[in-house]
Amino acid sequence: MATVTDHVAAPQAAAGQGAAEAQMPETTDGFHLVIDALRLNGIDTIFGLPGIPITDLTRKAQAAGMRVVSFRHEQNAGYAASIAGFMTGKPGVCLTVSAPGFLNGLTALANATTNCFPMILVSGSSEREVVDLQQGDYEEMDQLAIAKPLCKAAFRVLHAEDIGVGVARAIRAAVSGRPGGVYLDLPARLFPQSIDAEAGRRSLIKVVDPAPRQIPAADAVQRALDLLRGARKPLILLGKGAAYAQADADIRALVERTGIPYLPMSMAKGILPDTHPQCASAARSFVLPEADVVMLVGARLNWLLSHGKGKTWGGKSSKEWGGQKFIQVDISPTEADSNVRIDAPVVGDIGSCVAALLAGLGADWPRPPAEWTAAVAERKAKNVAKMAETLAKDPAPMNFHSALNVVRDIVKANPDAIVVNEGANALDFTRSIVDMYKPRKRLDVGTWGVMGIGMGFSVAAAVVSGQPVIAIEGDSAFGFSGMEVETICRYGLPVCVVILNNNGVYRGDEVNPTGGRDPAPLVFVKDARYEKLMEAFGGVGVYATTPAALRQAMEEAIRSRRPTLINAIIDEKAGTESGRITALNPTAKKK
Ligand code: ADP
Repeated sequence: MATVTDHVAAPQAAAGQGAAEAQMPETTDGFHLVIDALRLNGIDTIFGLPGIPITDLTRKAQAAGMRVVSFRHEQNAGYAASIAGFMTGKPGVCLTVSAPGFLNGLTALANATTNCFPMILVSGSSEREVVDLQQGDYEEMDQLAIAKPLCKAAFRVLHAEDIGVGVARAIRAAVSGRPGGVYLDLPARLFPQSIDAEAGRRSLIKVVDPAPRQIPAADAVQRALDLLRGARKPLILLGKGAAYAQADADIRALVERTGIPYLPMSMAKGILPDTHPQCASAARSFVLPEADVVMLVGARLNWLLSHGKGKTWGGKSSKEWGGQKFIQVDISPTEADSNVRIDAPVVGDIGSCVAALLAGLGADWPRPPAEWTAAVAERKAKNVAKMAETLAKDPAPMNFHSALNVVRDIVKANPDAIVVNEGANALDFTRSIVDMYKPRKRLDVGTWGVMGIGMGFSVAAAVVSGQPVIAIEGDSAFGFSGMEVETICRYGLPVCVVILNNNGVYRGDEVNPTGGRDPAPLVFVKDARYEKLMEAFGGVGVYATTPAALRQAMEEAIRSRRPTLINAIIDEKAGTESGRITALNPTAKKK
């Protein structure tokens, strides 16, 4: 690994120079201290967008051997950094310019915090003196104050000798406890500050144990096990916190040794293969209201789980508790009781908690009652058969099912490929149709259901893993980050984008009721040729109107590893408003 001395201004010791000059101390500067502090902590990649005042930082970082991935818009770089953090457990770093660049990155920072992804947004900023007196500097903005409410922690470094502390604090804040976003403000004047190289070296901190294990209390583990043991209809619910924890073998052992049916949340798919006999995904609407004890592992009872109450959970009204008892395994002690009573909170890191639960099972752990597992299996078989029937149809034009049937086969044949997924119907159908076989291979819109993660996640997934990436995109969702196909081509990444194109948001057949010239607000240009966008930058573009054409193009994309965009033409009448979250649309509710 390069050290500070690799970058220091060399002493002027060349032949012919005076003795005084030869003894000039070695110096380093803010640029190199930032780079060295990151590298010292194993951070070898920066996602960002160069410009004043961080242009040279990107050049120098690349010269020092870091991977610098430059995007076309900071939001996409930010999403890339955040998902790199989720995949690796190390904070992903996004680097932006001041004010507008910073603000563009801020959506991703807030999204990272919401999703518990460790990320550090590093932004250059204007001079404090001018900003604080509001004298109108270039890109003037009090960035630290603006970032604070949107992240776990925010720090500003004013002196080069404090860079080591600033980076160390940012890393600890991002990955310890519940992971999240951190903002690091680096004013322009910091970068050229020159200090003695040895002092600089000593100022850097290699963070020891940045995400310390948090061992759960023995009585909390016992309480949870007692509750689980007495259940007649137990259910395990795995969330993306369980995927993040990288405790895959122990989680699998816990599920298999207890014999309890489990339900993976979207980004937890693949911790155990979706084809696992205990997977209850195909019986979701049956197991949630029926279960009597539910163990949440790294999943929150937020809107994605109907807040743990209401009809989804067997409650008689939309607000009523269904009567389940909950165990919640989570690193955050304040998560319990956020929506309904948690009868057995187990607070600690998932690795330690699951290990403790496993150790407490004992040899005499009873299998769950056979009536329960048989009922789940029966419902599952019925729904799987119904789905197989739907998938076997071959309508013209294609619909979501016939297109995703192809994607399902391709992912099955390539289980190491990473699936990125966003949209409304494109998201819902892909989540339920495409099985995942390995952990952390499905990356999607997460806790906010945010649109725009597509190309940023795809770039990061390819860069971090080296594996092929398959991005399943609604045509609307793709529009938020579509320009990053240039980034995909520039870095030659093995990304295959499949746009499920039905000519609009949700669907493409709405019309302007006034008969006026403007199109309806939710429709796009009909028969848009998105594939040409990829061709414009040297990638492969395919216009696919049949499942056979889609299959051939996807197989070729995976084989060749060339950037590919497949414009998969779907029936414009396919799709419902807001996909599965129609009920959240206030007017739709009244209908
Ligand atoms: P999902 O959307 O899949 O249901 P959430 O994002 O709602 O998942 O929940 C993830 C939960 O996992 C959060 O409450 C977070 O505190 C928790 N978590 C994240 N990392 C860990 C970890 N290493 N150990 C324990 N809990 C974790």
